[in-house]
Amino acid sequence: MVYFTPKGGKKVFCQVIIDIVHENVASPFTYRIPKDMKLEPGQRVAVPFGKREKEGIILSLSETCDLDENRIKEVLRPLEDYTAIPSELMYLAEKMACEAHCPLAETLRLMLPAQMRGGRIHVKTEKTAVLTISAENALAMAETEKRSPKRAALLRVFADGKTHMVRELAGIVKDPNEALKKLAADGLIRLSEEESLRVPGNLFGDCTDPGFTLTAGQQEALDEILPCLNAKGGKFLLHGVTGSGKTEVFMAAVHKTLSLGKSAIILVPEIALTPQMVSWFRGRFGSAAAVIHSRLSPGERFDEWRRIRRGEARVVIGARSAVFSPARQLGLIVVDEEHENTYMSDHHPRYDAREIALTRCGRENATLILASATPSILSFARARRGDYMLLEMPRRVNDRPMPDVEVIDMREELENGNRTVLSTALRKALKECTARGDQAMLLMNRRGYNSFVSCRSCGFVVKCPNCDISMTYHVGSADGMLRCHYCGQAMRPPESCPECGGRYIRYFGAGTQKVEEEVAKLLPGITTVRMDYDTTAGKDGHGKILEEFRSGRARILIGTQMIAKGLDFPKVTLVGVIAADMTLNMPDYRSRERTFQLLTQVAGRAGRGEQPGRVIIQTYKPEDPVIGYAARQDYRSFFEDEFRRRRRGLYPPFTLLTRFLAESPREETALETAKVIESKVRQLINTNPTWEKKMLLISNDTPGVKVLRGKYRRHVVMKLLVSPEADQLIACMTEIGRESYPDTEVWFEVNPTTMM
Ligand code: ADP
Ligand code: ZN
Repeated sequence: MVYFTPKGGKKVFCQVIIDIVHENVASPFTYRIPKDMKLEPGQRVAVPFGKREKEGIILSLSETCDLDENRIKEVLRPLEDYTAIPSELMYLAEKMACEAHCPLAETLRLMLPAQMRGGRIHVKTEKTAVLTISAENALAMAETEKRSPKRAALLRVFADGKTHMVRELAGIVKDPNEALKKLAADGLIRLSEEESLRVPGNLFGDCTDPGFTLTAGQQEALDEILPCLNAKGGKFLLHGVTGSGKTEVFMAAVHKTLSLGKSAIILVPEIALTPQMVSWFRGRFGSAAAVIHSRLSPGERFDEWRRIRRGEARVVIGARSAVFSPARQLGLIVVDEEHENTYMSDHHPRYDAREIALTRCGRENATLILASATPSILSFARARRGDYMLLEMPRRVNDRPMPDVEVIDMREELENGNRTVLSTALRKALKECTARGDQAMLLMNRRGYNSFVSCRSCGFVVKCPNCDISMTYHVGSADGMLRCHYCGQAMRPPESCPECGGRYIRYFGAGTQKVEEEVAKLLPGITTVRMDYDTTAGKDGHGKILEEFRSGRARILIGTQMIAKGLDFPKVTLVGVIAADMTLNMPDYRSRERTFQLLTQVAGRAGRGEQPGRVIIQTYKPEDPVIGYAARQDYRSFFEDEFRRRRRGLYPPFTLLTRFLAESPREETALETAKVIESKVRQLINTNPTWEKKMLLISNDTPGVKVLRGKYRRHVVMKLLVSPEADQLIACMTEIGRESYPDTEVWFEVNPTTMM
């Protein structure tokens, strides 16, 4: 890093990005660096801005300046004595701002703990004391010290020569302050103020490091990865079936990375759902590991960030935003369960943590490992094309068998008179499983779809008048009302169908609560726990539920898709999927991919210990090939089929799917805005014949969810052939999205997570 120190009257300037997100403040402002102030790019400074003082980040330094020098103001002071944003992350922020066409101030914010901005967080300090004379002298003085027992006691404590916190000394002698001052005045000890780091408590249980001997599969994967860690890095897709021991591969790769003096970042979909991984990492890497999660206090988060920046913590484990950690000498990024949606941020500025990881690794010569039992179509396609090296672990650890999967046709169940949510086979299996003393997991699709009310005669579904989404009935809810999960609207369930007048209007589909009730009827006396959005909302909601289950107190875990994510409970020998169809029927081109992933992942939770596992998938569509692939855990066939389908239907990764989403309180306004946007896009592509060729489709349509939180929605969907021209076109369309439209909010999205 070059320091520009003002020497011999030479003027030095800096270009500062002011921390305000506003079009007019988007470009850097120039300030003069006062004499004797040392600054470098990436450092935060306080500067005068208009009549006020603002925070900013130094983008660059220069010796000259084209502006009228008399009008240039001076930097007031640095906010820290270090660069808050190291050069690699400055580069990343600039690249992201450029690609997303958003102000740099917006992407720079991603690189800092939020609380650091606006001076809301402070470095914590501690008063400390340490002996300045020899230990023998101190002990001798303690012997002869008769007048003050306090002094004598303190001298004996200090004789160990260590630095002591004054706060802790208060536990040894009462009110030590006076005595300490006296000792310091006599030159026997030195008092000082030292920075102290807030250490997050261990929320993830005790650290246990199993310390395995690697299996042949793990060793083969590592043989490819380890040599890259020394060199300029590599890119890997680790495709290992559930239970193949992928975690152990990361651990070994991290270990090697650290021994080379580099750091590693481990990304997980959701930290609360990966307690085991965290405790293993802590066990093996101790204080070299930093865990970034949403339950850290602002102070803890800031201090963990500083430990990482200083290179004291060299392994970072966290959810997607941890990809921006200021890791010193980055050597490795692991993205575990890389197929998960949670790697895409849904806030502005949007990013995909996997793509950021790829960029960082490329630029910082680090190694990237994407890992999953069910890789995303995009990642697997890249691996097949040779962009990533594909590593496969097709067998479970110690040749444990893959679970045995049965598909149950729920239509037959109904014909045979079973109107409950549990099939005969699943009932029997649950009884047997609990009788053996084993544990079971039951998956019920998404919470938003649980127990909606529909008419069995005409198919009518009760929807929210504001949101166009099925209303939900909570079994056992005190007021017996139907509720909308989006806007909170409540209403009484109808007695008969408003559409056909039929009386067979029932609580259909059943949510997690309904399943819980039926299980309680089937197995009285067996403790169950439920994990869904409702039960995990509180502080440490996930942790408590998982602990109930891990400890064995609860024998059956019932939950939404949360339970499919990477959990490892050796006593689980039965997994039941209540209704596989829910995700399959969603109006989204990725619903098949999601369904396959969800079913395969949840099936993979069974039989991870010594006992073999059994899986029962209930469905109304057993003939759907996706159900079959998942039942056979056949990723390859699923991939080939889905890849072909995407090519035929011109879906990503063959195309880029983009859309403008217009939302307005008035239906006509949303329609009108969508029309205006559509014509702007058409005009745009008319100006360039190549652009026109890359645009395969423009449709102006109503999205799957027509009304949301009382706003009418309309979207203009476009499909573009992947090409450099399409990138230019997207840049222009971003501008269209940023224009203002009367009484409408407009979002422009590229490959959005949902088309609903
Ligand atoms: P994956 O993430 O691939 O589904 P995990 O990494 O969770 O699998 O490992 C599955 C199980 O196998 C875990 O319980 C883990 O403790 C165990 N395991 C991993 N590696 C070994 C090994 N080399 N020897 C014995 N057990 C292992
Ligand atoms: Zn609603």
